[in-house]
Amino acid sequence: MAKVIQGKEIARRINDDVRSEIQRCSRKSGKKHLPRLVSITVGHSEDAEIYMNMQKKTAEHIGIDFILCELDASITQEVLIEEVRRLNEDKTVTAIIVQKPLPEGISHDKIIAAIAPQKDAEGIHPYNLGRILRREADILPCTPGAIMKILDAEKVDLYGKEVVIIGHSAIVGKPLSLMMLNQMATTTVCHLGTAEKGDLAAHARRADILVVAVGRPEMVKGDWVSEGAAVIDVGINKTGDRIVGDVCFPEVSKKASIITPVPGGVGPVTVSILMRNVSRAYRSQNVQI
Ligand code: NAD
Repeated sequence: MAKVIQGKEIARRINDDVRSEIQRCSRKSGKKHLPRLVSITVGHSEDAEIYMNMQKKTAEHIGIDFILCELDASITQEVLIEEVRRLNEDKTVTAIIVQKPLPEGISHDKIIAAIAPQKDAEGIHPYNLGRILRREADILPCTPGAIMKILDAEKVDLYGKEVVIIGHSAIVGKPLSLMMLNQMATTTVCHLGTAEKGDLAAHARRADILVVAVGRPEMVKGDWVSEGAAVIDVGINKTGDRIVGDVCFPEVSKKASIITPVPGGVGPVTVSILMRNVSRAYRSQNVQI
């Protein structure tokens, strides 16, 4: 039976470290204001509000000022970009997060690209993503950063291991595959094309470490996983009044060595990595401390 990873516990440890780092940094620099994270929302979404409240609670607990910038759904892409540029110029703003979803007609990629890379709380600006290639990244995309942290906390050595990632999005699968490569894992990335024209289950069965980030409830079954594999379930799916992952937990937990539950696995650690990014941004903006 797999060890079920307590994401909240790992998150608590990161939050404690981040809080100490912020205190150290503001003491040394004599900075009067706390790090400030501005959250941009456009229009209203209940799901976004749930995530945002979680971020706000964690930020305030750590000592990060969490400011809401709520914009009307009728805003144009150009005006939103101007707003982002204004925040880039504002010296009291440490970092910016753009909550999804954005209304139709506004490109999330274009808005992220308008953020100053040193204020990119989510670590998904093209500059920060590119730095992963060169092993120079400091501000990391939050979910891949969380997955690396979980594996590290569980002392999973990646060197020479077979890693299979299902899902190749620009915020999860692709950057994670580079981060794993940087640790000398042998990395395979699967996606819809693999499911439609390849043998997805056969790839998954080869994995020492299997990461699933697709958004299909309980897609990965027990017979897709080899005995003793480490399984990281990124998916968040609403089915009726339940939230389930992309992995069929009752089946897979019988075979895996460790497994992240949904909820309570990757999610809370992701929020902590977001806070760590803000703290790193704060530090770099305070120069040489
Ligand atoms: P996305 O929609 O951008 O990408 C989905 C990926 O899955 C693509 O690579 C696509 O090709 C692949 N895919 C689709 N159908 C497939 C199939 N049948 N078989 C194999 N691959 C298939 O998704 P995303 O933004 O990366 O999010 C994926 C999931 O992770 C969602 O459930 C999302 O809610 C969740 N998520 C969780 C966190 C967290 O912190 N826990 C963060 C981000 C995303």
